[in-house]
Amino acid sequence: MLTLSIVFFADVLALPPPAVTCRSGNSNCTISGTYGTWPDRSTCKAAQVFYPASEQQIVDAVAFGVRNNMKMKVVTRLSHSIPKLVCPGGDQGLVISTKNYSSGIVIDREAMTVTVDSGVELRNFVDTLASSQLAFPQSSYWSGVTIGGLLSTGAHGSSLRDLGSAVHEYVTSIRLVVPASPAEGYAKVLTFTQASEDLDAVKVSLGVLGVLSKITLKVEPMFKRSVTNTMRSDSDLEDQVATFANGNDYGDITWYPSMNQAVYRIDQRVPSIVPGNGVNDFIGFQPTAVLISQATRTTERVFEFTRDTQGTCNRARLQAFTLWTTGYGLKNNGVLFTGYPLIGNQNRIQTSGTCYNSSSSLFTCPWDPSIDGLFFHQTTISIALERSRDFILDVKRLRNATSNGLCGPDGYSGFLMRYVKKSSAYLGKPEDSVDIDVTYYRADDANTPRLNEDVLEELEQMAVFKYQGTPHWGKNRNVAFVNASRKYPNLPKFLDAKKRLDPNALFSSEWSDLVLGVTTAGLTSDKDHCALEGLCICSSDRHCAPERGYFCRPGRVFQQARVCRFEERLV
Ligand SMILES: Cc1cc2nc3c(=O)[nH]c(=O)nc-3n(C[C@H](O)[C@H](O)[C@H](O)COP(=O)(O)OP(=O)(O)OC[C@H]3O[C@@H](n4cnc5c(N)ncnc54)[C@H](O)[C@@H]3O)c2cc1C
Repeated sequence: MLTLSIVFFADVLALPPPAVTCRSGNSNCTISGTYGTWPDRSTCKAAQVFYPASEQQIVDAVAFGVRNNMKMKVVTRLSHSIPKLVCPGGDQGLVISTKNYSSGIVIDREAMTVTVDSGVELRNFVDTLASSQLAFPQSSYWSGVTIGGLLSTGAHGSSLRDLGSAVHEYVTSIRLVVPASPAEGYAKVLTFTQASEDLDAVKVSLGVLGVLSKITLKVEPMFKRSVTNTMRSDSDLEDQVATFANGNDYGDITWYPSMNQAVYRIDQRVPSIVPGNGVNDFIGFQPTAVLISQATRTTERVFEFTRDTQGTCNRARLQAFTLWTTGYGLKNNGVLFTGYPLIGNQNRIQTSGTCYNSSSSLFTCPWDPSIDGLFFHQTTISIALERSRDFILDVKRLRNATSNGLCGPDGYSGFLMRYVKKSSAYLGKPEDSVDIDVTYYRADDANTPRLNEDVLEELEQMAVFKYQGTPHWGKNRNVAFVNASRKYPNLPKFLDAKKRLDPNALFSSEWSDLVLGVTTAGLTSDKDHCALEGLCICSSDRHCAPERGYFCRPGRVFQQARVCRFEERLV
């Protein structure tokens, strides 16, 4: 009995923290993302939360917001975006959670489409399709997200095949709940089909147009994938990067610049009849012993405190070796990795994430904010394929100009490079691109500089300014969004749709106005230390941490960059 109650108690504790917590009932609420800390470390507040369970209840919630002239935002059950996308404007807004609007999945076999409630989570979505021998061709690599969240930030996997890797490319229609006049009852449902021009606005909307209710997507008969990873020297990476995805259905590249190595993932579709029951259970998304996550964080703190770059490099090598020898969490028979090729059904390969359903509180997602585990920044920028060769060459120059300066991200699975196709969605990718995901240590407080942070700041500014990269809307630090809106030729069309669908901008917030270029003041700051967390580009030493030897200096390769560099002799 005692054991049983401990297990039950542990199970309850294993759930990740909810995105919304309220002081009294559903009022006086605080909204937190999965990582627990927003980029500017502020608190995100709302007056009230609603949990609609049907489309009619969404209409009622929006009508309530309109009647009371409240700023509104949709938030998902766990909310995985890094920027403050889910915060309604001000601190007296209304959040509409899709937590209870997450079960409707209706398959139309004749049309080969599926219509889902927007709060349906990816794991449930692809597994439900699979139980009907159907597959969804693309998705994010992390399965804890919702279909509404995926669409709203333009989320993707890796592919240049067919319509490409972004989930929104497979949308055939959307029902959207928008504000309306008093005569219309303050809220109404609009349907956008492929015949509606506005579908290109609604498909990727950052949540500023209203509430996505029902989403219809194309599906296919189930197929399998055959995955083989190969590791080799990165000496010709610049020649491979633009072409690797051609004829490689789901290929991606993990680049370890500090080790001069790259892992090429060859990942092809194969017919369902090919034998294989493989599963992708990526190690970084598996339930991780809390003690290990805490020990990793402690080790990182020690490396930072003692300025031990070599320590970060050793950790990176150990991590890369472990991932490689364990097949990154690929399991040929569903249990163990026994070698390549690994073949399995699309739903078991396309996405993973067992940690958010962990059955024990002793094992959680490594970044769970309640355990003092991993805490990091993520810079995720898409570079147009035609500029990708020069970008790689510049990163190599940066690597060569610094002594082990890129070991930090290599200890977070290296640079994940994935392919995304040019989109007709107004906020989708303006060009065929390679999306580069770089994860790295974040300090415990906003005033503490990081080891080799100048190298990562230069990389970030190089990607954003020199190579005109577009930021992932659901990731990144503020700096990545500087002038981002100007990179979208169809932005005026998006803003026009926004004006028509939500004329009083109730679904807009300070953050969405900044990233869409509606307002400019406030995206970056002028405060002391602001460059340390990407809240500004330094223009003066005080934006870094001169008291700790970090001064504002030009980049080494991209000389227009301004970065916080440690200079020992001056301390
Ligand atoms: C561990 C991890 C791995 C990830 N892997 C990938 C990856 O492989 N590829 C990738 O592209 N991204 C990836 N991401 C980023 C992620 O896909 C995006 O941040 C995504 O938007 C998160 O979806 P969510 O359901 O958590 O939505 P949230 O983060 O809660 O919301 C995102 C935005 O969508 C809006 N929104 C959500 N639902 C609705 C709705 N029904 N109506 C209107 N607006 C809505 C919200 O208001 C907000 O603006 C990853 C994130 C994490 C934490």
